[in-house]
Amino acid sequence: MKMCYDCGAQGSLEKTIQTRPYLENSGLRLEVEQTVFTCANCGAEHLGVTNIEGLHDVIAAAIMDNPSRLRGPEIRFLRKHLGWSGEDFAKYFKVSPSTVSRWENGKQDLSKQGDLLLRMCVSQLDPIASYHLHDAPDLEKDADMPTRVFKSTRGRWTRASF
Ligand SMILES: [Zn+2]
Repeated sequence: MKMCYDCGAQGSLEKTIQTRPYLENSGLRLEVEQTVFTCANCGAEHLGVTNIEGLHDVIAAAIMDNPSRLRGPEIRFLRKHLGWSGEDFAKYFKVSPSTVSRWENGKQDLSKQGDLLLRMCVSQLDPIASYHLHDAPDLEKDADMPTRVFKSTRGRWTRASF
């Protein structure tokens, strides 16, 4: 990156690697290593994330590893990770689209069976596949969303915290 998109200054950008909040509106409390270009002229920051597909695989795996019952934001992330619309999800799980919204808004809990089914879909339909039914955790609801931190080494994403 050579030019600041905000003020148009040339050569004013300083590149640093910083761990910053990611998908802030998702409710997931993610912190992800990002490339930050800070403009010395206007102070604007331009953030970049490398290998987003790889990052999202690792985020999905982190969600799946947590033994707590899936929370609304996690359900929404996994559903989108599968490439499903809300209507797809409703169709596959034999519920109404409004039930899907209630799950994702946290207004209604996904049943234990629904939770297991969603985890199975993610593990079977996606390459992460680290989840096995015989390892199925005892799914208790945990009120607090954990903070999950991810870092990248030359484009390869790993978890920096659990
Ligand atoms: Zn600028």
